[in-house]
Order: sequence, then structure tokens, then C-alpha cells
Amino acid sequence: MEAKIKTVGCKKCHNQGYYIVNENEFSHAKLCTCVENCKHCGGKGYISYKNENNYDLLGKCPGCSLIRSNIKKYNLTKIPSKFSQVMMVDTYFPKTGDQQKALKYVKDSFIRHYPNEPGFLLMGPPGVGKTHLAIGAISELTLEKGISCMFKDFFLLLAELRQAYSEGVAENEILRPLIDAEVIVIDEMGKGKCNEWEINILDQLISNRYNSSKKTLITTNFPSKEYSDHVYEKGELLEERIGERIFSRLNEMCNFLYIEAEDFRMK
Ligand SMILES: [Zn+2]
Ligand SMILES: [Zn+2]
Repeated sequence: MEAKIKTVGCKKCHNQGYYIVNENEFSHAKLCTCVENCKHCGGKGYISYKNENNYDLLGKCPGCSLIRSNIKKYNLTKIPSKFSQVMMVDTYFPKTGDQQKALKYVKDSFIRHYPNEPGFLLMGPPGVGKTHLAIGAISELTLEKGISCMFKDFFLLLAELRQAYSEGVAENEILRPLIDAEVIVIDEMGKGKCNEWEINILDQLISNRYNSSKKTLITTNFPSKEYSDHVYEKGELLEERIGERIFSRLNEMCNFLYIEAEDFRMK
């Protein structure tokens, strides 16, 4: 077991060894300068040693190779940098009971006991922090636990599938990274109009992940029937947007949490 690096007194990364910036198309984790000067390897990331036959060999640095590999995993997650802030679980500040409940599940159950708890599906109006919590979860899983994750915007996924179809590219090329990742986020599920072909492809993806017991995290502005009376603007239900089949699969894979914008109990 590789030890996680402990850096002391670094204000830049708060002793985590990395920091995150939103630049270019995707959010990036960067190795902090306090690790670049790793005392084990001098910042090379590997150390040389001799084996029993006196051959020179190279090995991973016990001080910094784990954090280097976790940073790579975070950078493969493809979290869009369009969000105005870096979204970590610890920078989510709940103001309502629903938000407290959602944070508690994401942080104290899902992340802490990964992979023993189900994924989550966060429903609610825009601006309650659904995407923040989902991104916070995959950021922590990649950077702290080295788990491979993938972020995908639902609307963008459909657009990519349509484009692949029109260019004669197999849809599997688009789906493969989403099937392979241990944890995925599908953001804003149900956004846009999906036709039967798109629903079928989505069904393949969700079924595949269901069969391999991989965690799937969803955010959506559409409430399920159970929460239909919470919606101010009566709109479509999630079941209607994505179909009963995908809905019931997700119901088995995810803990459904509804986040209301205002909390009348707290007023
Ligand atoms: Zn540092
Ligand atoms: Zn090192």
C-alpha cells in the first residue's frame, strides 16, 4: 500500500499536494510545488534502486507517485471548466434541510463507504447545488481514492451520439469511456428532446453499468412522480423524459434525493 504524501505547512495546496484550476475546456488538477520538491525523488516521480543481482532498476517514488497518479485520474474525468468555481464537497455549504441531507449522503455515506453504498440521483430546480455535489464526489474519489471517474453532460452526450451516427462512427466509441469508468456523472439528465433511438442507446449504457455493478450518479431538473407536488412550474416527470425502463433501473442503482430551493420548515 502506497502511503499518501503528507506535506506540511503548504498554504498553496493546504497540504493536499495538489490544487485545482478551471482553465481551458476542462478543470485541471496540478501537482503543487511542495511535491515537485519531493525529498524522496527530488521531483522525478521515480527512484532508482538495485535488485539482488545488482542491476539498476527504477521504481515508483514512495513519497509522491500516488498523488501523481490520482491527479492523472482527475484530469481524465473531464469536468468542464465552465463552472465558475471549483466544486469540491467541502466547499458545498448547505442552507436548507434538503441540501444538508443530500450533502450528508454524498459525503458521509457514498464517498466514505465507497463502493458499499448505492449511487445517487439528485433532483430539483436549478441552482440548488446538484452538479456541485456530483462533481465534488468524483473529485474526491479520483484525488483521494484513485478511482476512475467520468463526467458527461446529458445534452452533450446526445449531440455526440447524433454526430457519430451522421459520420458513420460506431456509437460504442462514444459510450466506451462511460461504460469503462468505475463511476460516472450524467449531468442534467432529461434535458432536450430525446427520441426513441437516443433512449435505446441510453438504456444500453445504464443496463451495462447496472450489470457490472458500477456506480452511476445523476443530476436532473425533472422530478420523479413521488416528488411531483414539489414542482412550482408543472412540467414533465423524469419517468416521462427517460422512459420507465431506464427510470426503474436507476431506481435500483441510486438513492433518489430531492433538493428543494427553499425550505419552509427552516423558515
Ligand atoms: Zn503544496
Ligand atoms: Zn517523490
